[in-house]
Amino acid sequence: MLVMKFGGTSVADAPRFKDVFNIVRRVSEADADAHKRTPVIVLSAVSGVTNALIDCAKTAQNGDTSLALDKLEALKKRHYQILENLIPASSQEQLVSALEIDFNRLSVLLQGIAYLGELSKRSLDAISSCGELLSSKIFSAYAISQEAPAVFLDARTVMVTNEDHGRAVPDMKELVSRSKKEIIPLLQKEKWVITQGFIGATADGVTTTLGRGGSDYTASLIGAAINANEIQIWTDVDGMMSADPKLIPEARPIASVTFQEASELAYFGAKVLHPLTIKPAIEKNIPVRILNTLNPDSPGTLIVEKTDSGETVCAIACKKGQTAIFINSARMLMASGFLAQVFNIFARHETSIDLITTSEVSLSLTIDNLEKLPQIEEELKQLGEVSVMKDLAIIAIVGRNFRGESGIAARIFKALSSINITMISHGASSINISLVVSNNDVDAAIKLLHTEFFAPSAFN
Ligand code: ADP
Ligand code: ASP
Ligand code: MG
Repeated sequence: MLVMKFGGTSVADAPRFKDVFNIVRRVSEADADAHKRTPVIVLSAVSGVTNALIDCAKTAQNGDTSLALDKLEALKKRHYQILENLIPASSQEQLVSALEIDFNRLSVLLQGIAYLGELSKRSLDAISSCGELLSSKIFSAYAISQEAPAVFLDARTVMVTNEDHGRAVPDMKELVSRSKKEIIPLLQKEKWVITQGFIGATADGVTTTLGRGGSDYTASLIGAAINANEIQIWTDVDGMMSADPKLIPEARPIASVTFQEASELAYFGAKVLHPLTIKPAIEKNIPVRILNTLNPDSPGTLIVEKTDSGETVCAIACKKGQTAIFINSARMLMASGFLAQVFNIFARHETSIDLITTSEVSLSLTIDNLEKLPQIEEELKQLGEVSVMKDLAIIAIVGRNFRGESGIAARIFKALSSINITMISHGASSINISLVVSNNDVDAAIKLLHTEFFAPSAFN
């Protein structure tokens, strides 16, 4: 059993839908055990559609009903154009009436939001979840028109979550038991199960979403639930690369990384993988492979528990929009229980900390969620002197055995001699050195680091 997840750019237009179909057909007809290649196909919304749906909702919330409906009409046209280019006119009727219902529902929702001038997280989920439903309905109809053994599965029947709209937490136990009923029997009959990433529903059936970019996470959750042989993440680049190829065009694909390295890279900004993707795969030790829909013959990146190959530094990632908080407290810092008090404040305000460094008298940490910053700052002031610095970025240099190799830090600092570094952390894992720099310097810093570690001369 195989999970194949295709991201937004993989279903950007009708030719891409055809590419996806050909990739799935090639894999499912490959000369291997049938049970190993029967696919669950997890689809994202058509490229840009989730953003566009959120924009429609916000436009309605601002009271501009006709603009919101115009934007919805443009989205409808885009989907109809795809389906008209994919499916013979004689077979379009059923799909067109299904999409008509979805677009009518969206229109009613937008009018309701505009009327009330209010957009709850629950309403936003009801709207932003539609992109995946639309793309997967189109793909299923297309696959059936091509006589593939395709079955459409509404992910909300298996992906039960809590009620935390916008970042809902899936119930793995429920997913396992529902997959046994809803997915595995279909795979045993060698059907292609076509479903949506990103979306779920509460036990009461209210639609939820798992967080932006969450389709990767859906793929690995389903992979773990059905004990898949492999989880494939099909995207628009040749795998996990030495840096974001949009910033560093000469970035190189990495043949293989460990679960831990991939997690660190994803967490620190390598957008190619949602940060939570690796967790379910680790629990069941299922290999994850990142592949390119636009270049399906490239080997991609294999993510596994252990790997021998590779260089000391495997990739550089960055996360912009960070805020650093500095706490100075000569009196308190070394006193027992001080750190616990600090962490308690962040925990109570549900704000997670990314990096921490300490000295005798000061504590520096970074966060990216500023929602509760004023309250946190107020409470921290009772513990010491507090200052806040915004518009920062974390750079993570991820690789192997940093503790056992000398000279890595020296190379990093030499490469960045012209850049002001606000914080440095080389902590518990020996695979990550993180730095904090200004948002304005981050692109230049990544270019310098990439040249230092990956330019051809770096290997001489
Ligand atoms: P999808 O729509 O397939 O989910 P995303 O846009 O979410 O695709 O992720 C793919 C993008 O991730 C790439 O186009 C690339 O710009 C970006 N990216 C950032 N860091 C990396 C990296 N280290 N390796 C590969 N891609 C990266
Ligand atoms: N469509 C969703 C988003 O844009 C989920 C995903 O593509 O992974 O966030
Ligand atoms: Mg993505």
